[in-house]
Formats: sequence, structure tokens, C-alpha cells
Amino acid sequence: MEALNLVLFVVEAVAYFVLMVTLLHFRHRLGLGVFLTALGVMHFMETYLAAVFYVSLPFGDVSPGSSVFFSGKLMMILMLYLWEDAATVRQPIYGLFLGNLLTVGIAWVLQLHQPLQLSSNHAPDVDFLKEMGWLMIWGTALLYVDSLGIILLYEKLGDFFRRRAVLRFMISGFVLLTFDQIGFFAALHYFLDVPVAVFWGGWKAKMLSVCLYGAMFAIYEYRIRRLRADAAARSISDVFGDLTFRERYNDLLERTGRDMLTGVYDRTRMELEAPLMVREALRQGLSATVLIIDADHFKDVNDGYGHLQGDVVLKSIAARLGTTLRSSDRIFRFGGEEFVAVCPGTNHEEGLLLAERLRWTIATSVKTPDGSPVTVSIGVATADEDGTSFTTVLSAADGRLYAAKKSGRNCVVGRSGVVNSGKPADPPINAIG
Ligand code: GH3
Ligand code: MG
Ligand code: MG
Repeated sequence: MEALNLVLFVVEAVAYFVLMVTLLHFRHRLGLGVFLTALGVMHFMETYLAAVFYVSLPFGDVSPGSSVFFSGKLMMILMLYLWEDAATVRQPIYGLFLGNLLTVGIAWVLQLHQPLQLSSNHAPDVDFLKEMGWLMIWGTALLYVDSLGIILLYEKLGDFFRRRAVLRFMISGFVLLTFDQIGFFAALHYFLDVPVAVFWGGWKAKMLSVCLYGAMFAIYEYRIRRLRADAAARSISDVFGDLTFRERYNDLLERTGRDMLTGVYDRTRMELEAPLMVREALRQGLSATVLIIDADHFKDVNDGYGHLQGDVVLKSIAARLGTTLRSSDRIFRFGGEEFVAVCPGTNHEEGLLLAERLRWTIATSVKTPDGSPVTVSIGVATADEDGTSFTTVLSAADGRLYAAKKSGRNCVVGRSGVVNSGKPADPPINAIG
């Protein structure tokens, strides 16, 4: 008998998942209302079953209402969140809550009637309706907390394993359904005298459901959605990582403000962030150094090898700059072949050393297609000695860049003039002659 019950349990979970995910999958074609209504209409049955319908499984007595259908609903809410957003998830939760409140309210009014008894074995039972109503309100209050919890936990787990959607799905399910079991059982025990043994049976059944739903989620993710996504040419990382709405938003933020060619932050981003970086450093009593870096005779690179090769050289300059700077520093593409680095907590002498290292790195590693070195000139200025705002410091650095160009290029100019007269790599001044 227990084995048959277990088989039926699995059949119910599979049927629930397949139906609900189908509705969710086709929500753009069918309308989201179809999924939401199906989700909502099962709530009464879930609660009714959880109150009175128990079956024996190999590991204890459980109610399919709570362990299959309520658990399934919570996992559906998480999936709805994954593919839509929090504003959409709120709708069924508030709808259920208000509908259940109304059920209880109406039951109170109904009991004032003197109903007709049409058939002797079907007496209306308003007390039952009221009891179910209260249990449903308690269930939806828990669902509200469970939904918030499962979404927050899923998001938090993204910090540790962002690309493991199935693992995140399952851990969130295990944790929140354990919490839910404690909360819902407390009500069953209090209102309906359900015995304590049922707690453990119910808990194990919920964990089993999460495993079943997790497995089906995995099949759906990696078989069905991925194929469809390939066809729709959606970004693969999006599908594998199953980014939540917030993660997609952060991704977009991270990508915007980037220069398309070199991948470093663009000028708009510089205008937003650089003044804040300088102000924050000064507020902390630190200095902040600004470097302006301009490729030498870059027109000649373009003229000699074409614009596309020029682009390749620009990319490799940007890449060298990016790897030489520290993580607290920021590099922006200021204009064509000019970059600005902002280095908070760096005084003028340290800034000059950094600039010299950048100059040397580029002169010794960036080459034109035929192997001639590409060089840069760098102007360096520091807040607060050269000014207290980013703009004034930048224009001081720009003046020194001009001086660097005048004094022969491939050099660094700071407050007291040219730094490196000895130029270690000693590359030719005009890179390609
Ligand atoms: P110098 O700075 O040493 O005085 O000489 P320069 O030849 O680099 O002079 P300038 O700064 O005036 O010229 C910049 C050149 O950079 C002009 C333009 O053709 C080139 N450039 C600007 N943006 C891009 C770009 O996105 N791709 C490529 N390939 N070239 C660019
Ligand atoms: Mg230049
Ligand atoms: Mg220039």
C-alpha cells in the first residue's frame, strides 16, 4: 500500500509540475492569467487536503495537499520570479490573501442565514468553510513569508554559485519548505489536533518534493529552455546562469558605461564617477592622482596599417592599462586614443611611479603589426596639491601631457617636469617612422 501511495505521490508531483510549467512556459501566448488562475484555484484543495487527507508513505504519514501541491506552488512562485520579476510575483500572493480573507468574511455572513436542507445527506457546513478559511489565511500568510524568503535566498545564493540555477533552486526549496513545515504544522496541531508524528512525515515528503521538482526543473532548464534559447539566439550565459531580474539589471548596469571597442569605462561614466572618487579620497584625508595617457603618433599607426589595425592596437593598450592598475583604480576612455586613470589613495610620487610603469609596460609590449613598439605619453596631477576637484586636477594633468608631447613623447611628466629621462626600454620616439 505504501509503495502504491509513493507512486501516486510521484505521479501527482509530475502532473502538477508539467501542467504548471507548461502554462508558465506559454505565458506570452496564453496570457499570464491562465497560469495565475490555475495556481490560485488549487489553493482550497491544498488546504483541505492538508487538513484532513493523509496517506501512508514508507517514511511516514503525509498529506499530498501540503507536500505536493503547496510545495509545488512555492516552487512555481520562484520560477515565476525567475522569468518575470518581483512585481509579477506579488499579484498571486496578494490575490490569494485577499480572496481567502473574503472567504472567511463571507462564511461569517452565511452563518446568519437559515439554509434549506434539500437532501438529508448533504447538510451545508459553514463551520467547515470558516475553518478552511482561517487555515487558508494562515497558509497564505506563510506563503507570503515563504515567497519572500525563497526569492531572497535564491538571490543570495547567486553570490556563491551564480551559474548553478538548479542547485540554488533546490537549496532554497529545502530551507524554505522546512521553515514552512514548522509554521503550517503549528497551525494544524493547534486548530485540528494533528499528531506530532505527522510533522516529520510531512517534512520528509516536502524534501522529496523539492528533489522531484529540482530534477524536473533541471530537465526543463537544460533540455527545453536551452534549445528554445539557442533558437532565439539569447545569450547562453543568461540561460545557464538563469539570471534573476535583479541580476539581469545589474548585468546591464555593468555593461552600460563601457566603451564598445576597448571594454574600459567610457567618458560618460568618467564624468559621473571620477569626481566622486576624488571627493571621497579627499574626504578621507587621502590624495588622489589622475593620469592622462595619450598614444604617441597614433595617426601614423592608422595611416600605416589602416584603421582596423589601429583599433587592435588601441585594444591592447587598454588591456595593458587595465592589468597594470590596482583594483581600486579606474581607467576610462577619455577620447580617441586617450585614457584617464583615477587612482584614489595615491600621492604624487606613487602616481609618477605608476605612470612610469604603465609607460614602460606599453613601450615594451604593445606593437604595431610589423613589430614596431607603440608608446604613450602621460601627464600626472594629484588632488589636492594640483586642485581639489577632478576637473581642475584633470586639466593640470592635461597641461603636463602637452609638455610630455613637447619634450619628445614616450615619457611621464609630473609636477616637477619630465620623470624618466633614461627611458629604460628606449624605444624609438616615432613608433613607425
Ligand atoms: P600625438 O598624440 O603623439 O601628438 O600624435 P597623434 O597622431 O596620436 O595625434 P592625435 O592625438 O591628434 O591623433 C589621434 C588619432 O587617433 C587620430 C585618429 O585617427 C586616431 N583615433 C582616434 N580614435 C580612434 C579609434 O577609435 N580607432 C582608431 N583606429 N584610431 C583612432
Ligand atoms: Mg595621440
Ligand atoms: Mg590624442
